[in-house]
Amino acid sequence: MTREIEPQHHASLRDYEGVAHLARAVRELRHEAEALLPRMRGRRVWMVNSTAQGGGVAELLPPLVGLLRELDFDARWLVMESEDPSFFRLTKRLHNMIHGEGSADLAADERSLYERCGRLAADEIGGQVADGDLLIVHDPQPLAAGAALRRERDIAAVWRCHIGLDRENPATVAAWDFLEPWARAYDHAVFTAAEYIPRCLSGKASVLYPSIDPLSDKNRELPVHRLTAILAGGGLVRAGAPVADPPFSAVAQRLQADGSWAVATEPDDIGLLFRPIVCQVSRWDRLKGYLPLLQGFAALKRRIGDDAPRTLQLARLVLAGPDPAFIADDPEGREALDELCAAYRGLAPALQEDVAVLTLPMESREENALLVNALQRCSDVVVQNSLREGFGLTATEAMWKRIAVVGSSAVGLRQQIRDGLDGCLVRNPQDPEEIARTLGALLADPVRREALGLSAQQRVHDDFLIFAHLRRWLKVMGDTVASRWD
Ligand code: UDP
Repeated sequence: MTREIEPQHHASLRDYEGVAHLARAVRELRHEAEALLPRMRGRRVWMVNSTAQGGGVAELLPPLVGLLRELDFDARWLVMESEDPSFFRLTKRLHNMIHGEGSADLAADERSLYERCGRLAADEIGGQVADGDLLIVHDPQPLAAGAALRRERDIAAVWRCHIGLDRENPATVAAWDFLEPWARAYDHAVFTAAEYIPRCLSGKASVLYPSIDPLSDKNRELPVHRLTAILAGGGLVRAGAPVADPPFSAVAQRLQADGSWAVATEPDDIGLLFRPIVCQVSRWDRLKGYLPLLQGFAALKRRIGDDAPRTLQLARLVLAGPDPAFIADDPEGREALDELCAAYRGLAPALQEDVAVLTLPMESREENALLVNALQRCSDVVVQNSLREGFGLTATEAMWKRIAVVGSSAVGLRQQIRDGLDGCLVRNPQDPEEIARTLGALLADPVRREALGLSAQQRVHDDFLIFAHLRRWLKVMGDTVASRWD
C-alpha cells in the first residue's frame, strides 16, 4: 500500500525570518526559489520513501515538503508500505550490505521479490503521478518502483540514497550489483558524501548534505519550564510540583535490572536535571554502536576510584530509542534492543544503576520529538557511536543545541564533526577503552565542552540547516528537469 502523507510542518518562512540569525538564509532561499519557479510550473514534485516516522529520512521530509509548498512548488509525500514482511527483510539486508555488513549472497528469488513489490508500488504511485512530474525517491526500498515509472512514463526521477560506505567489500559490491539495473534508470542520483557514490553511478551523481529544522519540535529552544514539563509529561522525571501541561499520550519505559520494563522513574530518578548525563538517542540498530558504548561507559566507571572528580562519579549513561513496535521497516530493531537488554542485565548492580535504557513513546510524533529534544538538552555529552553512519542527524541535532558531541569516525559523522573543534571523534567505535578515555576527558572538562558546543552550533548554522539543504535541492531539481526536457 502506498499512502500520501500530509507533512506536519508547523513553521512558516515568516517564522524563520522572525529569528534574527536565520533571516538572511531565508532571503537567499526565496531568491533562488523564485528563479526556478517558472521551470517547475505545472510539475508536481513527489518525495517517495518507506516510512512516515522513525529515522532520519522521515525526519527530513516534512520540512522539505512543507517549505517547498510555501515557496509555491507543488510538492507531495508518498510512503511506500508493503504488506510482505520479507520485502522489508530484504531491503534491511540491502541497507546493511551497502554499509558493508552481512553476507554477500542474494538469491534470484530475492530479485523477483524486489521487482514484484516495486511493480505493485509503481502501479499505485502511477495513478497519482502525471507526465512532466519529478519523482524524488529515497533509499533502496522504493527504488524499483521509481525506476519502473521512469521507464514507462514521461517523468524525471532522482534517486536520493542516504546511506553508503567509503570502501568496497564483497557485501557492498553485491548490493550495488543487485541495485544497479534500477538505479541506472534514474536521471540523477544524490548521495551524502562523495565516498558513497558507487562506481555504477559515477558521472550521474552528486553530493547533498541532509539538514535539521531549527524550529521543529526536535530542535527548537525549550525554556526551562517547558523542558521540565516535557520530561514530566513523558515520564522521565517525577514532577516535584504541579505541572500546567497535560500528561503525554504515552510515557517512556525504562529497562529494569530483572529485564522487565517499567516507568522511567523506576527504580530511581535518572537524574536528568541534576547529574552529568552522557546520552545516545538513535534507532535500535547494531550499527548504531550502543553495545560498545555501554561497554565503554562501564569501563570508565570501573576505572574511577573514590578520589575521582564528582562529575565522573555522578555521571549516568542514557541509551534511548523508539518503542520498536512502531518502526515498520526495521525488523532487526527488536533484536538489537534485546541484545542490549541482555548486556545490561549482565552488568554489576552498581553499574546498572548508572545506566538507563529507555524506549520513547511513538504514539505522537510531536511528543516523541519533544522528548528527544529535552533529552539532548539535558545531556553534557551526546554520543553517536555508530559503526557505520550515513550522516547522523542525531549528532547535528546535538551540535545545534551546543552540546559537546562524541562521534565515531564513520563517514557521515566525519562530514560534520571536525575532531577537537566541533566535538570529538573516537577512531574505533568498538574499542571500549578509547570510548572510556574520550568520555572521561570530556566529562572532566566543562570549559572544553562549552568551546566544542559553540563551534558545533556555528558549523550547523553554516552548513546543516534546512535552508542550505533546500537550496541544494532546488539546484538538483532545476538541473534534472533541464536535462530531461530542455
Ligand atoms: N529519533 C527520534 N525518536 C527516537 C529516536 C531517534 O525521532 O526515539 C530521530 C533522531 O532524533 C534523528 C533520527 O531519528 O532525527 C535518526 O536519524 P539519523 O540520521 O541519526 O540516523 P538514521 O536513523 O537515519 O540511520
